[in-house]
Parts: sequence; structure tokens; C-alpha cells
Amino acid sequence: MKISDYEFWFVVGSQFLYGAETLRQVEKNSRILVDELNACGKLPCKVVYKDIVKTADGATGIVNEANFSEDCAGIITFCHTFSPSKMWINALSLLQKPWLHFHTQFNLTIPNDEIDMDYMNLHQSAHGDREHGFIGARMRKPRKIVVGYWKKPEVQEKIGKWMKSAAAADFSRNLKVMRFGDNMREVAVTEGDKVEVQMKLGWQVNTWPVGALVEEMDLVTEAETDAKMDEYRSLYDFATDDMETVRYQAKEEIAIRKMLDREGCKAFSNTFQDLYGMKQLPGIATQNLMRQGYGYGGEGDWKVAALTAVMKFMGERSAFMEDYTYDLENGLSLGAHMLEVCPSLSDGKPRIEVHPLGIGDREPPARLVFEGRAGKGVVASLVDMGGRLRLIVQDIECIKPTQTMPNLPVARVMWRPEPDLETGAECWILAGGAHHTVLSYDCDAEMLRDFARIMDIEFVHIDKDTKPETLEKELFFSDIAWKLKG
Ligand code: MN
Repeated sequence: MKISDYEFWFVVGSQFLYGAETLRQVEKNSRILVDELNACGKLPCKVVYKDIVKTADGATGIVNEANFSEDCAGIITFCHTFSPSKMWINALSLLQKPWLHFHTQFNLTIPNDEIDMDYMNLHQSAHGDREHGFIGARMRKPRKIVVGYWKKPEVQEKIGKWMKSAAAADFSRNLKVMRFGDNMREVAVTEGDKVEVQMKLGWQVNTWPVGALVEEMDLVTEAETDAKMDEYRSLYDFATDDMETVRYQAKEEIAIRKMLDREGCKAFSNTFQDLYGMKQLPGIATQNLMRQGYGYGGEGDWKVAALTAVMKFMGERSAFMEDYTYDLENGLSLGAHMLEVCPSLSDGKPRIEVHPLGIGDREPPARLVFEGRAGKGVVASLVDMGGRLRLIVQDIECIKPTQTMPNLPVARVMWRPEPDLETGAECWILAGGAHHTVLSYDCDAEMLRDFARIMDIEFVHIDKDTKPETLEKELFFSDIAWKLKG
């Protein structure tokens, strides 16, 4: 499913106490609110007005229906009037979909001349939503709280971003990852508990032999390869005459894509240590697959492969990345990979180049080379802490690389991490963040925090205000809390 295929159910809290006329007005106002949200252009998914909850059975009925609906990616609740929360307990204990508590009010201001007790009883989310908030807190139910007037663009944008996180939760729970070979020998951070990951995030991570990929490559026709080469010509500049090398990459891409699609996989990993029967490490093959939304992780890093797919689902310009080397004088990190940087990060038209690869003992592979664009973004890393997963997100400011680097044969992005390189790297290392990350211009920390909350994994954010001494304490307490939580 695409993100726009999902819908969110709008459920309004009330009760019978105020009489039929009030309930009619609640429904009328709520339908107007939903219609305008759908027309505002800030939401990636449709909002469906569902019903007014007036009884416990009514709440439970809606939640049961939502749990079984494939299209429904979450519910949005709003208490237009007071809605006693004991009648929500059974429903909320059954709720399996993401929940947004929208604390808004139909009217922006208080009408000085008209206001009377009828008005007060109708427009009382100020305390109705507090009752609703209490039961969420009392039941320890994870929920997103958005506060503000529903016509304000910044409020609508907040809802829109949460929708992406909530839809990504469903994408995540259906995600399959294809591993070609194991992960790179002796590396710790690319390891992880696949059973734990599947329980928490839904990822089905399994392996396929590289030999099967080589057999698939042998079946790729010249016509298929010609078409792929035409696609490369339309998207990229050729800075090589070595067409045979590029054609080999085209065959790799076609074969990998066929295997991924046959198995329903949206992410894959491979490793330069296991290329048995292959002449080149996939370079442009992998890069062009990432452009089409597939997640990828190098050195067998299936966690980052899957996270790349999830973040690409939330925001297209998201890509597998690796902190490579520093400019310590200017506080900058240069990110790249040995080949596999997604062209969605590119500032201009990527070039296809062929260069030898110092690692992996194969023929020189064709790859896309480019500079990343400037702009605000994040880097995100998912690590296995033993018994739980931790998602670490750092705010970054990407800049145009300060030098041209004519001898660097890979795509590169340069950024300044928050709060600065030294403090940011200290915090990152303190939290155990990996060298492999997903860099995104389209996902922000709030979206990833929402995703982590929905999936029930630990979230660590390094931003402009983060201090190592505070973070150290936070991590210490978090460790104890997660162990108690079990
Ligand atoms: Mn790597």
C-alpha cells in the first residue's frame, strides 16, 4: 500500500447527558472539521468521520472494527463535549492501531455576547479532553497528542506527519528483508536479534544464497538490459565509456529486483565478503533500486536496510549513509559509502563512473557519484541493546561540500551535526549509535519519535540542546526502565 491508500478514523467523544440537539451539533461540527482537514492539503491520508462515542459498547465496536480494517492506519479522537472515560477503558485496552488524541476546539475564540451554559456544554474539550487524557495516561497507552486550533496549518502539518509515522508502522509490520549472505565478519553493530526485531517491528528477515542471484542474472535478457541502460541514460550522466561494466550492473539490478519482488521484499542487504560468482559489487544497481524506494544496508546490515525502507516510505529523500571522515577544523562529518549512496540525496544529476574498489577483490564496479544537497535533516540509527531496540536520531544541517574532492570516487554528503561535531559525536557514541545510519531530508525527529512510540522501542534524540551529562543520566535511567518493562 502507498501512504495515500491509508485512512484514519475520526472518533468523537461525547455522551447522552446533554440531549439530542447537542449531539446533532457535535456531529455537524465534527463533519465540518473532518471535511476541512481533508481539503487542507497538508495530510497525506484521508480522514474518515466515524461516529460519536456515547457508550462503552459504542467505543468498543469502533475499536474492534478499526483493529480489523486493513485500510485504517490509526484513530484520531477528540472530545467535543465531556465523555466519561470509564466507558472508553474496554475499547482502549483492545486498541491495536496507533492513536492520536487531537485536543482542539470547534471555535477559535469565546463568543462574548452569545456564551451561555448551552455553549459551554457543547464546546468543552478543555475539560473533556483532560478526562480523555487521564485515561490514556492511567492505562499507559501510547498516544500522540496534538494540541491547537484545527484550521491552523502548523496543527494540520503535525497531524500529517504523525499520519506518515502511523502508516509507516503498518508498512513496517509487513516488511520483508532479503539478505544476500551474512553480515561482515566480526562486526558487532550490524548484528541483532531477528526474533526480537520481528516481534517489535514486524520485519521478516531471511537469507537467500548469492548463487541464486547469480543464476537469476544469467537469465536476464539483452533486451531487458538495453531497457535498463536507457533508464540510466535518462536519469544520469555517463562519465565512462566502459559500457560492459555498466551493463553488468544493469543485469544485477534487474536480477535483484526480480528476486525482491517475487518474495515481496522491500529491502535487502549484501556484503562484499560474499560475492561468490559475481564480477562486481552492486553499485549503481543498488543505488538505482534505492531510488525506487527499496531499502538497502551494506556489509549485511539488515537493520539499516529495513530502516531505510521504512524511512523512505515516510519521506522519499532518505538513504543508507555512513559517517566516514571528519573535517575537525570546521566541525563537519563527511558521509558516504564504498558505493551505495541513494541518488535521492543528490544536488544535481549523478554521474556514472567506473573505478577500482580497494575492498572485496572484484572487478571495478560502476557507481553513481554526486554531491548531496544542502538542507536540514536527520541521521537515524537502530541498535540492538540486548533485550530491546534503541532508535537514535540526531538533527543535522547538510551543507554543500566545502571542497570538490576530485579523487573521491563515491557520492558524498557533508553535514554539521547538532549541537556541534564534538558534542554531537560524544552523545552519539555514548548512546551506542552505529556508523551506518539512514540520512533523511524528509523525516524529522518528531516523526521518528512517533514511530518509536507506536512500535514500543526506545528513542534517543540528539538535538541542539543535548548535553552529554544529561544524556548519560537519561540513558542510565532508560536502561533500568526498559529492563523493568521487560
Ligand atoms: Mn558500511
